[in-house]
Amino acid sequence: MKKITILVPCYNEEKSLPLLYPELKSLMDSQSAYAWEVLFVNDGSRDNTLAVIKALHVADARIQYVNLSRNFGKENAMLAGFDYATGDCMVIIDADLQDPPSLIPQMLVYWEQGFDDVYARRADRGRESWLRKRFSLLFYKILDHSTRFDVLQNVGDFRLLDRRCIEALRQMRESERYTKGMFCWIGFNKKEIVFNRADRVAGESNWSFWSLFNLAIEGITSFTTAPLRFATVCGIIVAFVAFCLMLFYGVKTLLWGDPVQGFTTLIVVTLFLGGVQLLSIGILGEYIGRIFNETKRRPPYLVGEYSLENTL
Ligand code: UDP
Ligand code: MG
Repeated sequence: MKKITILVPCYNEEKSLPLLYPELKSLMDSQSAYAWEVLFVNDGSRDNTLAVIKALHVADARIQYVNLSRNFGKENAMLAGFDYATGDCMVIIDADLQDPPSLIPQMLVYWEQGFDDVYARRADRGRESWLRKRFSLLFYKILDHSTRFDVLQNVGDFRLLDRRCIEALRQMRESERYTKGMFCWIGFNKKEIVFNRADRVAGESNWSFWSLFNLAIEGITSFTTAPLRFATVCGIIVAFVAFCLMLFYGVKTLLWGDPVQGFTTLIVVTLFLGGVQLLSIGILGEYIGRIFNETKRRPPYLVGEYSLENTL
């Protein structure tokens, strides 16, 4: 019998889990042709999430959990899930019911047809500010134009992955993870499902605009070196303009003399160049910071306890 793992990363989800479980239970009960496992990865929640999960584990043998030693972020929590999952395929789903479990049977149908990665694309981005939408568009544009693989827009982590995708992702152990990009990077047979993303059932979203901005920087710097190229191109353009200006002012001074003038030009040029330099150093710094973090080779997460007997 094929086994399906449902991976649920949880951070402060004590209110969502009691709503999520009945949905998963009725799904599992209705699909009895498969063996099921629900793997909760508790990502260092500060509320009673772990106690809620443990109670579910006692009540239902299909519920398993991994408890991380502190909050490592959703990306690392998912990696822990990839490591501990025992299923032949895996569905990653948020704890807050924003990803409807009712899509899972359709994903399984496609999986049986031979697709390795059945991802759910959001039909619309829901309630988001104009600025946030613009930023995310820009982000996808940069990524798409500067990488060799297709970068999927409006696609989150809600998807079904075949065992071979999981094994591929397990090999990617970089500490600064951008899993959405990795799903695209690994390739394999992909299939799309479109759905409408609901609002959170309970609790609060853990993403602020700032953390999304950071994730975007993470995404760009971990998948492309295009910003470094951008710094180079900026340098070439500025140098070229400076050379033309030098010729222009040189000739002008020779022909007409040089009464002292041009404070404004001077200050503008100085500030502009200073800005370009700082920007370039910042870009360099982003990459050096990543090199620094990767060279430490720390484990991406640490586990406090887990409920599975026969893994790892
Ligand atoms: N999550 C996590 N660790 C974190 C932040 C979030 O495991 O540090 C989980 C969270 O419990 C939820 C999922 O990741 O199951 C998505 O989080 P959230 O709903 O805050 O993100 P959004 O839906 O706004 O993208
Ligand atoms: Mg959510």
